[in-house]
Amino acid sequence: AGAGAGNGGTRYDLEKETELRFEVDAGEKVQLELLTGLAEIFGSELNRNKKYTFGPGSKVAVFTWQGCSVSLSGKTEVAYVSKDTPMLLYLNTHAALEQMRRQAERDNERGPRVMVAGPTDVGKSTVCRLLLSYAVRLGRRPTLVELDVGQSGVSVPGTMSALCIERPADVEEGYSVQAPLVYHFGSTSPGTNIKLYNKLTSCLADVFSQRCEVNRKASVGGCIINTCGWVKGSGYQALVHCASAFEVDVVLVLDQERLYNELKRDLPHFVRVVLLPKSGGVVERSKDCRREARDEKIREYFYGFRSASFFPHAFDVRFSDVRIYKIGAPSIPDSCLPLGMSQDDTQLKLVPVTPGRDLTHHVLSVSCADEGEEGAGGGAEGRAGESGVRVHCGD
Ligand code: ATP
Repeated sequence: AGAGAGNGGTRYDLEKETELRFEVDAGEKVQLELLTGLAEIFGSELNRNKKYTFGPGSKVAVFTWQGCSVSLSGKTEVAYVSKDTPMLLYLNTHAALEQMRRQAERDNERGPRVMVAGPTDVGKSTVCRLLLSYAVRLGRRPTLVELDVGQSGVSVPGTMSALCIERPADVEEGYSVQAPLVYHFGSTSPGTNIKLYNKLTSCLADVFSQRCEVNRKASVGGCIINTCGWVKGSGYQALVHCASAFEVDVVLVLDQERLYNELKRDLPHFVRVVLLPKSGGVVERSKDCRREARDEKIREYFYGFRSASFFPHAFDVRFSDVRIYKIGAPSIPDSCLPLGMSQDDTQLKLVPVTPGRDLTHHVLSVSCADEGEEGAGGGAEGRAGESGVRVHCGD
């Protein structure tokens, strides 16, 4: 590895079952080209002699099952080849899930519902993407359920969503997001309102199950659920809740034996809980890095990505023409609560918001509910550009 590739790039010759890992510096771009052989990035195959561009902050692994050579040009923060990857274990996991899908097809049952759990920065989203891409490459139609409100792969941060996967994620742009089901949670941490988080998890599970009833391919494809990295206290309870709401068959725990043992203990015996190692390539992301990724996701939602630019326009709406609510009343001391009312009851309450300066730079969503209480549980929104609303209090 490391010889000149002739076009200004560095050539890497990868042996089979190895991967080239690289990170792109802030403010830089890197171009990657597959010269010979076969390679994939997180489960999506690379085309030969096509230049793929990765923007600042990208953290990428080019893996090859058969061996390949690639050329990398531009400024990378790091670039190295690793022989030590858990890809074979991940592939075996995929093979086991595929077996379950075949059986479901034969016996007219439903395919595997899989929850991926683990602490932060263990590669949960990456494993989800890999399993989804492998499934779709075999002609399956699995559903991605994105419960990571901090770093959603589907919509803006603070949302929980489900997306039917019809093709492997684009190497540069990620999932093709068409007609996802998105619920607005409104915060990047489930702890802000855990009751609402669990309620929206149940809503997603219900809609997914309804879809499975009418769509055989979706039912056989099953789902892969990406969860938050909060695995203690209420975060753990939210995982248990998710497992039961979706009636998951398989739980993949990345990197944490403790969580693995707890889930094994607390979930019904027919749920297969599997411990998988994390990849040494997964990069820890700082707070700043996560914030930047979130900002980028919001920018992308309103303005689109390279292949599809949106041109959002601003228009004024009178505060008197809309009603703004938030879900969840602030908690008050138990001693101040009316007799017989518990703190939990307030968490799903719709609270009218008086518009003011403190709404500036908040993202709201448009609720389809006709009247008041119906809106509780977050408005469902589609991809259509008009469903996200950014508030600018004009001067
Ligand atoms: P979160 O804490 O947000 O839930 P996570 O556990 O889902 O994180 P990922 O988002 O999957 O973790 O991975 C973290 C970062 O590491 C991502 O930018 C991803 O592209 C990168 N990454 C994952 N696997 C590899 C690898 N094998 N080589 C290089 N980079 C990788």
